[in-house]
Amino acid sequence: MAQELSLQHWIQIKTNRNFYSIGEESFRNRYGIIYVMERIIAVDIGGTQMRAASYADEGIDPIKHKRIPTRAFEPGGLDRLFQVIRDVWPENAKVKAIGLGSPGPLDPHTGVLLAPPNNPEWHDLPLIREISDHFGVHAYLDNDANLACLAEYRYGAGRGHHDVLFITVSTGIGGGVIIGDKLLQGYHGLAAELGHSIIDPDGPPCSCGFKGHLESFASGPAIAKFVLEEIQSGAKTKMTGRKELSARDIAKAAAEGDALAIRAYHRAGTYLGIGVASFLHAFDPSIVIFGGGVSLVGPLLFDSFHASLKERVFHPRYLEDLVITTAALGDDAGLLGARALAEMKLENRTIA
Ligand SMILES: [Zn+2]
Repeated sequence: MAQELSLQHWIQIKTNRNFYSIGEESFRNRYGIIYVMERIIAVDIGGTQMRAASYADEGIDPIKHKRIPTRAFEPGGLDRLFQVIRDVWPENAKVKAIGLGSPGPLDPHTGVLLAPPNNPEWHDLPLIREISDHFGVHAYLDNDANLACLAEYRYGAGRGHHDVLFITVSTGIGGGVIIGDKLLQGYHGLAAELGHSIIDPDGPPCSCGFKGHLESFASGPAIAKFVLEEIQSGAKTKMTGRKELSARDIAKAAAEGDALAIRAYHRAGTYLGIGVASFLHAFDPSIVIFGGGVSLVGPLLFDSFHASLKERVFHPRYLEDLVITTAALGDDAGLLGARALAEMKLENRTIA
């Protein structure tokens, strides 16, 4: 274990007496040198739950983990956030940094939440200042899709790749882009909003209020909306009479051979292919990783996606050795991405 600790750790211990401590997370070697373990705390602020975890330098399993309801519409959200961080704070280790992920839009450069959905109390909240003032350590913030991308790049399906495109298809469509081992954040911190790419300016309304964005064609609710409209127009299906449908209901009907359900997924896959063709032209990644519940349906979505993509890239070279796969990390991607963000910031790895 001692061999794993660098000279930098030793100098840090020598120069900062506050970090001296003896406990389960510190140890003394045979020369009497006390080593202090270091941790990163990661926080994933979701719409329904907040999760926090503390991580050692090695391994992807947290040392401590805590999950509480977000209760977004109730006051006191910041106090709940402080508490969940305290709950995973190590007793005898130094916290190097705190990484946080939240739904956007937000500004990762200033650490301000702009307008988090379902949480009016947090509009324009300077979250990073609040956290670093309260805990006295560096804190870093980015949106949940960028962090899921970073997690897959560092610990999941994208390991070994330097140019990664991540797309999450669920209630909405989110994106993340790594170029040359750097997370693309953009001048305003608003880069890689792939779901809001304009596919058809006269297309269906998007959740953001504009029309014809990729999300309005291929997200779970978009697939359901298409099916309900087709039912209203008299399409034949075993789902006739249903007033509400989820993408999962439709996948189930498709598995039973329902033509409308199959057509709805094929349509979504075709539009995803249109979107991804443009993303390949813009970013030229070596891997495209799909996350989110809708992407779990497999060939029902991806057969038409592959056909559509192949048809629309303007040069076949974009597809040479291109890996197209699904995310490997599941639920923990948000936490691991927040951890990766903090680690990469501490390593002074510039973010594009
Ligand atoms: Zn939109």
